[in-house]
Amino acid sequence: MRLPIYIPVLPAQKYSCHGCGSCCRDFTVQLGEADLQKLHEQGWKERLGQEYVVKFRGHSWLKQTDDGACVFLGDNGLCKVHAEFGLEAKPLACQFFPFMLSPNVRDTHVGISFACGSVIASKGADLQSHRGDVRRMSELLPASTPVPVKLQDKLIASEAEVSMVEAALDVWMSKKNISPAMRYQGLAWLITSLLRANLANVRGEKLRQLLSTLTDAVEHELPLLDWPAPTPRAWKLLRQAVFTRIEDPKIGDLLKRGKVASVLGQLSRSRKWGAGKGISPQTAGFLSIDFARFESTVGVFANQFAGDGAPDNALAKNVAPTHPLDGASGAAMSQQQDQAAMDDLLQRWIRATILGGRAWGSGLYGLPIDQGLGLILVNLLTALWLARFHAAGAGAKSASLLDLQVAVGRVDRTSGRAVWLATAGERLRVKWLSHSDSLRLLVRALV
Ligand code: SF4
Repeated sequence: MRLPIYIPVLPAQKYSCHGCGSCCRDFTVQLGEADLQKLHEQGWKERLGQEYVVKFRGHSWLKQTDDGACVFLGDNGLCKVHAEFGLEAKPLACQFFPFMLSPNVRDTHVGISFACGSVIASKGADLQSHRGDVRRMSELLPASTPVPVKLQDKLIASEAEVSMVEAALDVWMSKKNISPAMRYQGLAWLITSLLRANLANVRGEKLRQLLSTLTDAVEHELPLLDWPAPTPRAWKLLRQAVFTRIEDPKIGDLLKRGKVASVLGQLSRSRKWGAGKGISPQTAGFLSIDFARFESTVGVFANQFAGDGAPDNALAKNVAPTHPLDGASGAAMSQQQDQAAMDDLLQRWIRATILGGRAWGSGLYGLPIDQGLGLILVNLLTALWLARFHAAGAGAKSASLLDLQVAVGRVDRTSGRAVWLATAGERLRVKWLSHSDSLRLLVRALV
């Protein structure tokens, strides 16, 4: 039996491959038996004159060159396997990217990776237009049976309950006429409330009522809450979370350095990130800078125009606005466009993550809904932090759309892929941040 395919309805999110080749760099691609067989039959060892598979921890991976590129990436920026034998000759993971299929209670949800430049920029065709390709990909996988989703701990969620949570968060995320600050602080408050609730007592219709009460109350509640600055411990845990999301070690490097040296190096870098003092360790895509420079940047939406008002959605779509910005200076206009586009990017990312099945269950390490949402919130915090860090590296005082695109791309590269994000240590970090109310305080400090 094949589960039906569910592609989220997100008109603002487009995608078509523009052949930038960025997914052929920097990604470690695991190979299955069928992939190995296919590549072997294509005779690549003789064609390349070198080995193209590397063995690591009992699995087979595509070999990478010293600069992190796939061994099959040609000088023209195109995949040699694709050029020679066509799309279906490539390993499955390469054919699927940026789509990610997650079997759920009732269907296979289709998520998309924001590590893809076209997805980040929302360039190309509607997601629904890829249905035929996605269907073909799903048929390459063994037929999947429904995968139960847990609501909290061992509580199995009903199909209706999963849909309720998806819908409630999606309604909040796509709400019009609220500021980005309200949108993301509200999201943090909603998720923290769910993480703290005993959901065993709130099943079925009661869960629907709870979600509706919470989403109705957000805008009234937020101004009534205390908003002390996050504690040093909260900042430290967030910097450690940043480290775990941007550290994506290359298998070739690990093999060259040896296990002990690699683990010690990782520990040392993790400590430096946690301490947040001195020059940051070298990290792909980010300059090494004095951590203190982060402090000189302002929140991602701190320069928001019109006070706490909502950005004009037309700006995010590059449509020339007629109001309320008539008469605004070029610089102010560009900043306003950037901020509207940044809100648009974060909305697309979070909505596509939740509706695409990447926020819990088989799309996120088998986590229950509450813990998965906590992890997604930490991903958001990490992206906001990294956007400012990237801006600081360029000597800017505030993050631009490009800084946020780099940050989201980097964070989404590891989400659901990096096994270390599924450890008990990461779960404890999320638990401490939510129970100390630090998740919402950090969001406030970073937006
Ligand atoms: S990153 Fe996206 S646009 Fe670039 S080659 Fe890969 S799938 Fe295509």
